Amino acid sequence: MSNSSTLNGLYIDGQWRAGSEDLKVINPATEEPLASVSGGNEQAVDQAVNAASAAFSQWAKTSGAERGAVLRKIASGVQARREHLMQLQSSNNGKPLFEAAIDVDDVIATFDYYAGLAEGLDAQQDRSVALPSEDFAARVRREPCGVVGLIVPWNFPMVTTAWKLAPALAAGCCVVLKPSEVTPLPELELAAIIAESGLPKGVFNLVCGTGLAVGAPLAADPRVAKISFTGSNAVGVQVMQRAAETVKGVSLELGGKSSLLVLADADLELAVELASGGGFFNAGQMCSATSRVLVADTLADEFLLRLKVRAEAIRVADPFDPEVEMGALVNQAQYQRVLGHIDRGLSAGAKLICGGERPADLPRGYFLRPTIFTQVPLDSALWCEEIFGPVLCVRSFASEAEAIALANDSEFGLVASVVSRDGEAAERVANALQAGLVWINSPQVIFPQTAWGGYKQSSIGRELGPWGLQAFQEIKHVIRAV
Ligand code: NAD
Repeated sequence: MSNSSTLNGLYIDGQWRAGSEDLKVINPATEEPLASVSGGNEQAVDQAVNAASAAFSQWAKTSGAERGAVLRKIASGVQARREHLMQLQSSNNGKPLFEAAIDVDDVIATFDYYAGLAEGLDAQQDRSVALPSEDFAARVRREPCGVVGLIVPWNFPMVTTAWKLAPALAAGCCVVLKPSEVTPLPELELAAIIAESGLPKGVFNLVCGTGLAVGAPLAADPRVAKISFTGSNAVGVQVMQRAAETVKGVSLELGGKSSLLVLADADLELAVELASGGGFFNAGQMCSATSRVLVADTLADEFLLRLKVRAEAIRVADPFDPEVEMGALVNQAQYQRVLGHIDRGLSAGAKLICGGERPADLPRGYFLRPTIFTQVPLDSALWCEEIFGPVLCVRSFASEAEAIALANDSEFGLVASVVSRDGEAAERVANALQAGLVWINSPQVIFPQTAWGGYKQSSIGRELGPWGLQAFQEIKHVIRAV
């Protein structure tokens, strides 16, 4: 896919091409350049949408079984290059190799799952609809919505892509994918796998580039029927505004400020493990990151003590170090953003329990020690805003009602977690939380079968499961007089 030391960042109409602007890609663990990718602009988007539009009429007519076969081929292509894809994820994103393995396995599972749904579509097409009149008969069909634009961020590069791409192709849509300019390398390799999967040319197109050069014209293009976007709220709003001009559909997966609630009867060791995993996995750069830890006041002192011990024991290291537990943040901008949150938290009067600075043994790379705050003012940015770094804010509560109110007091509502030995109490609390997914006594496991998305300003729509497929389908009713 490369014609020189710069990688071609455009895959349009079945051809790899160079773009107009070189994007420097770095290794966040070393701050050294990793690669240069030739990204596109408005013209490349136009060409990609042209190719996708031309391919749509044929691809939309394929059977679900044919589309499922292609998705299975992509899944096995990813499986065959699993190790290489893991290495790309870790070197481009800074995440430990064991986390990259989870990502790649998720991608395989997602393509396999939507292959199964695609294969099931043929038998479900043209369902009859019961009507209250014998004078009419009706049937309902689901059809692909058209050419779709997929715009993804850098924190789980291939995973966020797979969650959109697999259902879009399963539905029969043609795709223009724009990866994050920060982490294009895993997607370039995925595109190389897709190029070998037997998809007709133009069905899948990739345009690397910056948000303004590529994402914005993609969101504005009137031939694009739908934009599926994962990223920040600020950009999500811009994408929605552009999409509104041509009344195109949008699915948005945006920010979060998620809570873990430790009820009075919780298993403390489990609670500590879940807080640490939820807060520090992927260096906290997760929309679903545990950000607020709410602990029953009877447990709070002991919990904080144990959480501090756990956090200080986490081995922050190079992503390829066999003992690494937490890797690097993705780039200088993100590193400064998180340090800024820590500084502002201290100025607002929050009490730092541990972390807040670079590990002494790692002078280079965007490394940060796992950070815990307590006594965080409820109106501070640290408590209210998404941090997107390895920072936990711990607070005690006196009653279940207070815990629920604290968790729900956010403009976001992506996920939440509950720790309790009382199954009934945990389920009751889960029902009261304003979140799209609630884990009970569980780490943040994700299955392709269960929906992903949240309440309030976290999302519009749901990914994964049958909901993820429906997001790329139109509903057509045919009513006939009999
Ligand atoms: P970002 O919003 O800066 O960028 C996301 C993507 O949008 C990138 O590909 C970027 O190039 C593109 N983009 C930027 N400006 C654009 C514009 N004007 N028009 C169109 N596209 C544009 O986000 P990020 O920094 O890459 O990722 C971090 C954010 O993503 C966090 O806020 C996080 O919560 C969110 N996120 C959400 C989920 C979820 O499922 N809810 C998952 C992962 C990340």
